[in-house]
Amino acid sequence: MTLSQQYLSTRSSSEPYLSFEATVLRGLAPSGGLFIPAEIASLQDDYLEKWKDLSFQDLAFEIFSLYISPSEISAAELKQLIARSYSTFRDDAVTPLTVLDEQRKFYLLELFHGPTYAFKDVALQFVGNLFEFFLQRKNAGKGENDIRDRLTVVGATSGDTGSAAIYGLRNKKDVSIFILHPLDKVSPIQELQMTTVTDANVHNFAVKGNFDNCQDIVKSLFDDVEFNQKHHLGAVNSINWARILAQITYYFYSYFTLLKKTGSGNISVRYVVPTGNFGDILAGFYAKRMGLPIDKLIVATNANDILDRFWKSGIYEMKRPSSDADAVAETLSPAMDILISSNFERLLWYLAREQLSSSNEEAGQYIQKWMIELKTTGKVTVPQSVLDAGLKEFASDSVSDEQTVETIKAIYEFTSGYIIDPHTAVGVTTSLRRLDGHHTYVALSTAHPAKFGDAVDQALKGKDEYSFDDVLPDAFKALKYLPKKVTVIEKADKELVKAAIEQELKDEGIVF
Ligand SMILES: *Cc1c(COP(=O)(O)O)cnc(C)c1O
Repeated sequence: MTLSQQYLSTRSSSEPYLSFEATVLRGLAPSGGLFIPAEIASLQDDYLEKWKDLSFQDLAFEIFSLYISPSEISAAELKQLIARSYSTFRDDAVTPLTVLDEQRKFYLLELFHGPTYAFKDVALQFVGNLFEFFLQRKNAGKGENDIRDRLTVVGATSGDTGSAAIYGLRNKKDVSIFILHPLDKVSPIQELQMTTVTDANVHNFAVKGNFDNCQDIVKSLFDDVEFNQKHHLGAVNSINWARILAQITYYFYSYFTLLKKTGSGNISVRYVVPTGNFGDILAGFYAKRMGLPIDKLIVATNANDILDRFWKSGIYEMKRPSSDADAVAETLSPAMDILISSNFERLLWYLAREQLSSSNEEAGQYIQKWMIELKTTGKVTVPQSVLDAGLKEFASDSVSDEQTVETIKAIYEFTSGYIIDPHTAVGVTTSLRRLDGHHTYVALSTAHPAKFGDAVDQALKGKDEYSFDDVLPDAFKALKYLPKKVTVIEKADKELVKAAIEQELKDEGIVF
């Protein structure tokens, strides 16, 4: 096994290192840290020549192989997992690149061609298959009366991530998934996307309460040692290493596509990424450190701008200066409405390791100290050397709702009809502020516009030729005619949820 195929925690970076399987199944490290590879794989000089004509799937295989030992998943098995994961995408390129403005060297990387029309599918389709693969292997050879290894995935959603997780895990053997959403507080399309999945292992709970109630209940279930052990709770949240890994592929793939589109071997590319939990852009950081010649990675935030403030000050602080409470601002790009960005810890580890410490252990101690400080005081200030080093690779911006709407309109007009979603518009706005005709800008398009109809309507209502109905894919129009499966939880109460989970597991035929 190479070092890049073994994993350590950002908070206790000592050996023994973990396998990929343990890393993926555990999600979060016991120390509260996040798993990172013991080394970032660096590419041979001839990788460009070797990889530039590969399909998305073949490229994914090359990249994943650097971080997964064949002794854990054989080459044939990994190829099969990848093929299955991306067979659900509607575009042959999986993540195609669109030209927005050739003259000003501005491109859009469309990440929304998966089953739920959002970028999280790229990772969660793969993660679902991985879970199933690991469990099947643990259960191989077991008889009918043996206890099977299983996973009960529990999560809360304000709308967007729930459906991607459900589509990733639907119909997977030995996995059940329970997704809690606040009743009547998610958009109709998002509600339908979740509740029309009627597979036996998928359970939607509509909780009478708000999103915070749902999240608190999920947290308390994970803290409930007895319940957790009994049902082997699992999470598919964005801190899982497999999700980051799966997202590295499209940085390479889009770079190669650009080389071909421009017929040039000499481009200076900047990726602009609408950012919430810092997972998507972190994958770009790994790509860059592996050797992909990315000039800069640009964080685009909405009013929840903790990362933008960090890059401008070196202070990582939960509270927004404009607010008097530690509250999330509700914006038109809700999937980026966060107070802190959980994956940012991983980047801080690399910066601390390179700027401040002479060992992994020491870097882990810095992270431990900073994260405790963040938790207790709500903020942490990093040394100037850390900020300066980060700014060599990153830049940032924050975009208001008004600007988001303006940009959806401007792009519609400029392109004669191309519609972007509000998350994408945050990245596009950030790009438009910077286009210089010299650097090539690739903005990541993270969702299909039909998922966020309110913002799109707000921007385009009254335009000639515009009708939201035309934006809706047929698959969305059909949702309301499909049967639904959802359990209403009458009160935001942990015990009610526990009882409902056990009841529905029994209904699934699971013995515990
Ligand atoms: C999750 C999400 C994001 C933010 O991605 P992170 O990895 O959390 O930074 C942006 N746009 C959409 C549509 C999303 O669903």
